[in-house]
Amino acid sequence: MFTAFLIKYAEIGVKGNNRYLFEDALVRQIRFALTKCEGEFEVRKNQGRIYVEALGEFDYDETVDRLRHVFGISGICPMVYVEDEGFEKLCDTIVRYIGEVYPDRSRTFKVNARRARKNYPKESMEINADLGEAILSAYPEMKVDVHRPEIMLNVEIREKIYIYSIEIPGPGGMPVGTGGKAMLLLSGGIDSPVAGYMIAKRGVKIDAVYFHAPPYTSERAKQKVVDLARIVSGYTGPVYLHVINFTDIQLYIHEKCPHEELTVIMRRYMMRIAEHIAKETGCLGLITGESIGQVASQTMHSLAATNEVCSLPVYRPLIGFDKQEIVAVADRIGSYETSILPYEDCCTIFVAKHPVTKPNLNVIRRHEHHLDEKIGELVKTALETDELIVVE
Ligand code: ATP
Ligand code: MG
Repeated sequence: MFTAFLIKYAEIGVKGNNRYLFEDALVRQIRFALTKCEGEFEVRKNQGRIYVEALGEFDYDETVDRLRHVFGISGICPMVYVEDEGFEKLCDTIVRYIGEVYPDRSRTFKVNARRARKNYPKESMEINADLGEAILSAYPEMKVDVHRPEIMLNVEIREKIYIYSIEIPGPGGMPVGTGGKAMLLLSGGIDSPVAGYMIAKRGVKIDAVYFHAPPYTSERAKQKVVDLARIVSGYTGPVYLHVINFTDIQLYIHEKCPHEELTVIMRRYMMRIAEHIAKETGCLGLITGESIGQVASQTMHSLAATNEVCSLPVYRPLIGFDKQEIVAVADRIGSYETSILPYEDCCTIFVAKHPVTKPNLNVIRRHEHHLDEKIGELVKTALETDELIVVE
């Protein structure tokens, strides 16, 4: 029965003179999200509201699902809209609406009419009363409650007449594109897609980098990262995923540096390379899925060591999250099932039995000098062979 949606937005409503920028970004993100649905839609901004209208056949559930991925939307109200063909016709439509949308009718309701078109022959109060009466005579089991109705039936009289009473929660946040761009270090694990989601939710566009180490990490592990990037892109729009071949760098570190420092030094090179690509592509920060104490490379000492090599801010939205809390978000956003697929994301030869948990920066720097001979060349080659995959 529904043929359109009223899109409610909360936070972006308060942005003063920049408000139109936020609304335009939201309209753009909605349009993009709907390109993935069956059917054609018109997305319009009108007097501080955003409407999505289906132009013909469309899949209701799929459309709602896509809209629930668009940051900036606080609520999605499915609507029926009809031409104004007189009040009698409107009464019939309202009665049919209640009949279809609320099969269980023993509920309280209130009609909330708004007359945006002032030449309509009845005033709002009169419309409320008359439509209420029509509903009560069709469904005597229903009751009016003007204070706390179970059903708030909104009727907006504009060029057309819009009817809605349901609000489906949206994801909240800010429209992607209003907050600059950041580079997500995306691995095949549970944490990094969640980290990307959380920063994107604040309006930030996401690019990603994945460090691949063939043949130690398989093609399937890489495909899994592409799949995760696609899940993130369902919320953000296209993600530019850089795949960096990290094998030679990893082997060289393995050859030259103490094994218990392997992970920390490797992470420092990942950060350096990610930052290099970030700066070249206009990103304003890096994003990782790190959380204090989760593993040896994420103690406060280790984080300080990896942080030290970057000048861009490193955003770690999961820093204070427990694993269960991260899993709960992963589950909700639909990345968990893919993240737990069992393709290895790191070969055991690169994992020390007893990694340092309190790396000493001076020691780490000294050991990194063992790499001086070749590391510059290896990093250069890794950057030159960057494989860019546009994921959408
Ligand atoms: P995740 O679940 O995100 O893989 P993790 O618990 O496995 O995280 P680490 O392997 O220590 O933790 O990685 C910490 C962070 O470093 C990740 O969240 C991710 O942002 C980044 N990272 C790790 N490995 C890679 C990789 N191969 N490519 C890109 N980023 C990576
Ligand atoms: Mg990982």
